[in-house]
Amino acid sequence: REIKYEDKPWLGNYEAYVKENLNYEEICLPRFLDRSVEKFPDKTALIFQGCKITYKQAGDMVDRFAACLIDFGIQKGDSVAILLPNVIPCVICYFAILKIGGIAVMNNPLYSDRELEHQFNDSGSKALITLDLLGNRMIDLRAKTRIKQIIYTSIGDYLPFPKNLLFPFVGKKKKLAAGVKNAQDVYKWKDMIKKYPPVILDIELNFDDTAMFQYTGGTTGVSKGVMLTHANLSKQVQQLAGWFPAFKSGEEIMLGALPFFHVFGLSTAMNFAVYMGWGNVLVPKPQPDPLIEAISKYKPTFAPLVPTMYIGLINHPDIKNADLSSIKGCFSGSAPLPLEVIKEFETKTGSTIVEGYGLTETTPVTHINPFNKEKRKIGSIGLPVSDTLCRIVSIEDGKTDLPVGEPGELLVKGPQVMKGYWNKPEDTAETITSDRWLHTGDIATMDKDGFFYIVDRKKDLIISGGYNVYPRDVDEVFFEHPKVQEACSVGVPHPSRGEAVKVFVVLKEGEKAESEELMEYCRGKLAKYKWPVEIEFRSDLPKTNVGKILRKDLRAEELAKRK
Ligand code: AMP
Repeated sequence: REIKYEDKPWLGNYEAYVKENLNYEEICLPRFLDRSVEKFPDKTALIFQGCKITYKQAGDMVDRFAACLIDFGIQKGDSVAILLPNVIPCVICYFAILKIGGIAVMNNPLYSDRELEHQFNDSGSKALITLDLLGNRMIDLRAKTRIKQIIYTSIGDYLPFPKNLLFPFVGKKKKLAAGVKNAQDVYKWKDMIKKYPPVILDIELNFDDTAMFQYTGGTTGVSKGVMLTHANLSKQVQQLAGWFPAFKSGEEIMLGALPFFHVFGLSTAMNFAVYMGWGNVLVPKPQPDPLIEAISKYKPTFAPLVPTMYIGLINHPDIKNADLSSIKGCFSGSAPLPLEVIKEFETKTGSTIVEGYGLTETTPVTHINPFNKEKRKIGSIGLPVSDTLCRIVSIEDGKTDLPVGEPGELLVKGPQVMKGYWNKPEDTAETITSDRWLHTGDIATMDKDGFFYIVDRKKDLIISGGYNVYPRDVDEVFFEHPKVQEACSVGVPHPSRGEAVKVFVVLKEGEKAESEELMEYCRGKLAKYKWPVEIEFRSDLPKTNVGKILRKDLRAEELAKRK
């Protein structure tokens, strides 16, 4: 592929792609499901714990659940929250919401009540689909939200999360087994699927309609709903298909282990599989043991994962005896993937891993390495995917285009760029320019071949074990503590999680506290992966001249200390 960038280096390899830009099918995602149902009715669509569902059955379930949602009064444009790990009802409910023109709001099941309350209320969610073991908690939380119906699904004895991650919120094991209490407007998913006959819909879906809210800290702090349209979702899967031509429609099996409540898993492991008519092996607990079991048993061939999952797999004691040879293609994103990990994983599986990049605001993929061991560049996030323009601009003014090799903020433009942040026009305007360039908040460089490299994160996102931690979320919890005057969380290197949270705390005058007291305080308020691994007490914190705490300086101090 010839790359011409001399005239306008900030266009990256765009010109190369203009020649082969995609003829997008202007088809919304639920219609792609209908098409896969038509083309591959008897092919397995979803596999979970020995249960296999064909495309025909999946399509039928979606149409039944769509009927249920309509009966519950959910209309076009209404939000419905999903609080599920990767289980069959997660896929079915998501497509049913989209099919009736609703807005799917994806939530992390490990979130605390406080976090969920914010997302439910901000999105105005009218119904919630969750797990039985979260049912009682959600019934209590419902009183503070606009949620009317709660639909829960059971996954039997299978605990989808490591116990230690779940128990801070669920309480004792006894409670887990107790089932969901009787309350008004609380329904079993299975009963609903049986009760409603499949509905034939005449709801028109428009490409520009919002299809989902995906919550993220964005580039500027508090959790915001990223509005992804039908066009974003549909074009992203077509971009992915265009990037991996060796993987043919109807012929592969996806490893559905990346959480679907994050847009990386949603687009690359769920939407892409449905678009391609592939089977999908659902792994709700993305830990080495269940991953090894699922790969050995169901032989997936395509595996989008985050670096911590590859690291977990290659370091697992059973890896020597496990048969992971079915995997041919791997796609890694969300954080840098170390060279040693690539080498070891590829040797073990005979697969090829390509690293890519993106963010929630871009559905998420904007860059991927060529799927070719000779052509990819290790350490790079690759080339922009089809129809994706890139610029690297000065960090100081956010506008001036920089020459090849110079680090600056990465800006992207393409059909996968979000509509905006829900109800936050100012944040949207700060992030997307009037001519639709999205400020990624990441500092990057481009080499002479048009490959991009992430240098640092401009924003302060901490990625702990593959999960995003927005420092302000943690700070806010500390600020609510009666003894705390100031708090600032930063990401520090961590041997197994990649990064973990450290919090700098200034206590109110005359107050005394030990780390343990504050740690204990956090445990009830934050998901476990957000818990700090260290708290350091200071008499003051470095600040800018307008009094903003200099998080970057604290992080730099930490990194310098550890070198
Ligand atoms: P999210 O919005 O949760 O998808 O997080 C997006 C952020 O993850 C980006 O802005 C980057 O900072 C980071 N990121 C994604 N992919 C990579 C990668 N391959 N290497 C380094 N950082 C990445």
